[in-house]
Amino acid sequence: MKTCDVCKVRPAEIYQQHSNRKLCKECFIEDISNRIVNEIKRWDMIKSNDIVMMALSGGKDGYVMLDVLSRYFSKSNKLIGLNIIEGIHGYNKEEDAKFLVNTAKELGVDIIVTSIKDYIGYSMDEIFNKSRESKNYFTPCTYCGASRRRIMNYYAREMGATKLATAHNLDDEAQTAIINLMKGDINSLLKQHPNASVADDNMLVKRIKPLRKIYEWETATFTFIRKYHIQQTECPYIELAPTLRAIVRRELYKYEKENPGILIKFIETLDQILDYVHPHEISTKLNRCIKCGEPTTLGRNLCKLCELLSSIGIENPNYTLRIPKKVI
Ligand code: SF4
Repeated sequence: MKTCDVCKVRPAEIYQQHSNRKLCKECFIEDISNRIVNEIKRWDMIKSNDIVMMALSGGKDGYVMLDVLSRYFSKSNKLIGLNIIEGIHGYNKEEDAKFLVNTAKELGVDIIVTSIKDYIGYSMDEIFNKSRESKNYFTPCTYCGASRRRIMNYYAREMGATKLATAHNLDDEAQTAIINLMKGDINSLLKQHPNASVADDNMLVKRIKPLRKIYEWETATFTFIRKYHIQQTECPYIELAPTLRAIVRRELYKYEKENPGILIKFIETLDQILDYVHPHEISTKLNRCIKCGEPTTLGRNLCKLCELLSSIGIENPNYTLRIPKKVI
């Protein structure tokens, strides 16, 4: 039996294609943890006085973020978890949240469990049904994404968090970068740089992506080794997601398979290119939404979420400033 290329003692069980190494489970976990911590330190994502809210969906990426941040940053930083139940039949149910809550407890992290219905007054299924009735048809992901982004920022701000950590992995980041390039969306591309400034607005909490150099297969393997109870069900609306991302995903997997490590190189190169344009100096002033008072792009009266909901007949969404539903 082959021994691990790192410790040279334990049996190798995982082939890490991009580094061409065979690793034992322990060295694999250590490799992923070190890469995440190094990426955080490299870009100074978490400073010693930061309060970090982690957005955790109950999927594999969130579990890895919860695991690594709680083990490496809980002494120096206050960490809070946030789980948002979308309200999609058969998907991400309250029962699934219990596993996440228990794991967070074991790792010493308080977690808030809330829902789109709690914040808006309608679940994702109800919102999407209304959009079908009104014929103002966007994909469910458009409403879901806008709602979750709002809820994450709202809770982070209300809980006094100075950083909002999302568990986007390397595959997500590479796909988003290609799509931004293809669409000519320079602003969104610049925002992918870890040092990009958020708009100059104290109602927005700075986002960080600690897993941006970790492959999706690696987060899946990590949670499998740790035996975390991750949500297995796929969202039924995924089939209605924009097809461009599905095409980009398929093509990138093909390139990665033929050239192991190419996605890491791509994001590394992008970081270097974006360094030249000083994304940290880009700052935008924002307006306030006339309906809900949340930040919105300069020149707009309504924020994206109010606009989307209004277009399907939801004129008075439920969002008000209030105490989180459950802090466990
Ligand atoms: Fe929401 Fe779309 Fe993800 Fe489903 S696939 S959880 S609708 S963003």
